[in-house]
Amino acid sequence: MLTTMGLFSGKVGLIMGVANDRSIAWAIAEALHREGAELAYTHLPGPSNERRVRRLVEAHQPKVFLPCDVQSDDDIANVFSAIEDQYGQLDLVVHAVAFAPPAELRNPYVETTRQGWHVAMDISAYSLVAVSRAARGLMESGGSILTISYFGAEKVMPGYNVMGVCKAALEHSVRYLAWDLGPKNIRVNAISAGPVRTLSSAGIAGFDEMQRHAAHKSPLRRNVDLHELASTAVFLLSEMSSGITGEILHVDCGYNIVGL
Ligand code: NAD
Repeated sequence: MLTTMGLFSGKVGLIMGVANDRSIAWAIAEALHREGAELAYTHLPGPSNERRVRRLVEAHQPKVFLPCDVQSDDDIANVFSAIEDQYGQLDLVVHAVAFAPPAELRNPYVETTRQGWHVAMDISAYSLVAVSRAARGLMESGGSILTISYFGAEKVMPGYNVMGVCKAALEHSVRYLAWDLGPKNIRVNAISAGPVRTLSSAGIAGFDEMQRHAAHKSPLRRNVDLHELASTAVFLLSEMSSGITGEILHVDCGYNIVGL
């Protein structure tokens, strides 16, 4: 992994979406920490989630480590008020959060329930809007917000189902948020990540096949790794990408360019 030493010195970042050491959010957090960022973390509520995430992030000595279910406006408000109290500012947000009820990923898309749709959209797409709105007030000197999408937003990936529709909403939210927040020099971008094995991806029916196919068909003839996602995140979160906003950057070994 490329390091430049201190790219984020003096910067404060919020990391949402660490579940374990395979999480994309954790790979990005490690890279930001190496570059000198001061990091705040959220975890899914519940004692076992807290324990598991705490064990990982305590190496970074976070001053803010709080539960946050993104379906709860109170949880979100609580996190941002703690960041304001501790730091008085925020420069970076990593939003790497998604969920769909397992049945919605098992059954055909046409069977998607109203309730499953609402839950998946709320957690996986709306949460970026709520979090960006809360972050705006702490980004007085500008900032950079990053979320993680997947090619299933653009093309049908059998088994990805409602999550593909959520990612389509997420990606277009990135563009609308970029428009709203651009005048405050707050940039909003997404990485469209190739498939990597994590807790979430393990719940997608046919995920192994997605990975095999991507490795076989992508120009680089392999799957992307977590370090490559983290390096691109460093780029998009840093001043190196100061002219880029509203962008969905594919980090997928080129898979998305291939038609057959
Ligand atoms: P992960 O399971 O490690 O991370 C998903 C995170 O979402 C977890 O930390 C979980 O706690 C959090 N989450 C779920 N429901 C939540 C809620 N209600 N409130 C707050 N947090 C909640 O898996 P990951 O693969 O690292 O996923 C991170 C992001 O990357 C997701 O948006 C996922 O869709 C996206 N992504 C993953 C892949 C892949 O192949 N793994 C590819 C493209 C995009």
